[in-house]
Amino acid sequence: MRVQSIAIVFLVGIIPIVSVSWSLIQTYNQKAVSQRINELQRQGNSLANLLQSTGYLTNKDIPEVNSEIAQIAGIYEGRIIIVNNSLNIVKDTYGLEEGNTLIAEVVIKTLRGTNAPFHNKNRNYIEMTIPITHNTANNTTKEVMGVIVMIFSTKNIVAISDMLSQKTVVLFITMAILIFVFAFFYSAVLTKPLKRLRGAIEHLTEGYMDEEVSISGFYETDLISNSLNQMLLRMKNLEKSRQEFVSNVSHELKTPLTSVKVLADSLLMQENVAPELYREFLVDIAEEIERESKIINDLLSLVKLDKTASDMNIASTNINDLLESVLKRLRPIAKKRNIELVFESFRPVVAEVDEVKLSLAISNLIENAIKYNVEDGWVRVSLNADHKYFYVKVADSGIGIPEDAQDFIFDRFYRVDKARSRGTGGTGLGLSITKNAIHMHKGAIKVYSKENEGTTFTVRVPINYIA
Ligand code: ADP
Repeated sequence: MRVQSIAIVFLVGIIPIVSVSWSLIQTYNQKAVSQRINELQRQGNSLANLLQSTGYLTNKDIPEVNSEIAQIAGIYEGRIIIVNNSLNIVKDTYGLEEGNTLIAEVVIKTLRGTNAPFHNKNRNYIEMTIPITHNTANNTTKEVMGVIVMIFSTKNIVAISDMLSQKTVVLFITMAILIFVFAFFYSAVLTKPLKRLRGAIEHLTEGYMDEEVSISGFYETDLISNSLNQMLLRMKNLEKSRQEFVSNVSHELKTPLTSVKVLADSLLMQENVAPELYREFLVDIAEEIERESKIINDLLSLVKLDKTASDMNIASTNINDLLESVLKRLRPIAKKRNIELVFESFRPVVAEVDEVKLSLAISNLIENAIKYNVEDGWVRVSLNADHKYFYVKVADSGIGIPEDAQDFIFDRFYRVDKARSRGTGGTGLGLSITKNAIHMHKGAIKVYSKENEGTTFTVRVPINYIA
């Protein structure tokens, strides 16, 4: 990233300098040449008028005209050749060709009335021809009597442009060094927070999770630090709940085993134990083993539900039938305590659900409604739906849940009244299994409860499974 940002700053800084300098030099060249052509054109025209008015083409011994010609040639460091309409050279400022004939295309064209200046860029000279005209007798047309050929060097223009180019190169090198130095340090400033971020992440990876990450300097780095700290907090919470879970599991699994050991030890320590006492203790031992096995089963259910959504076995299911079969299974338990178990369906519902997981979830709710109920109480299960969701309500006339406990009942191993719940065979895992199962269906679960009046759990699940 640092190399990239140096390259970008460097290019962005240098390319405009190079292109602007190059186009300035080009513009200067064009302007200077066209200005020189205009000047020469003007000088040439006034010279042509002078030659015509003095009759120079027939008599060239006019000192003022000759000195004028020499002056122009001198000022512009060029050569002037004057040709008459018979292509004879009347005057050559270099004195080389006088008296000779000049047969050149430009001269012939000019005599015919078409001439244009010519700039030879490679050999650095401007060549132009100017007709010497005089008006015909009736003043309507112009007769070309001769041609002034002017050849002028553009070397001084080239010299200036060369000088400019040299200055540009110096400017370019200076700017390149300055920009490079700037880019070098600026990229260091830009990448510094990233380096610190990497350092911070490495520090975390090494296990120093208690320290907060702080990479200030830029707004963006502040945002990154915040997100990182949030992630860290989440990880810490996860770790904390994992540790809590492990210690809870160990504790819960140990409790029935401790009871079994105490029961067995007390039998072993006594001599001649009555067979009835053996029996009584063994019944207790069997109960504790039963409890241990229930905890293990619940834990396994929970672990299964902790897996990803790809483990969902989704199928179109008749929810009325599903609830009926759960109720059928639980009816004998309700009957034992003379609890009335009613199912109320407002409409038939077919939804895309994992039948096993949903049955487990609802079954836990109804089981609790029976378990934490009063003798001769009631449990009402109802099913309703709209176009998007179906709703299952489990209401009971039971002991209710104290308000301060309602926030925790979905936590693993949480039980409002440990002693009572133990008596009813609770593990504290039922509601967290239910909640996980409902969440895997992208549903929601809520509880309304009043102590000594009853509890209502409402479950809302999408009819069409949302992957
Ligand atoms: P448990 O195995 O103890 O029933 P759950 O996770 O199913 O564990 O429930 C957690 C606690 O919430 C229970 O111990 C009980 O105190 C309370 N609870 C759950 N359902 C009801 C209910 N219908 N009425 C009263 N209390 C309830």
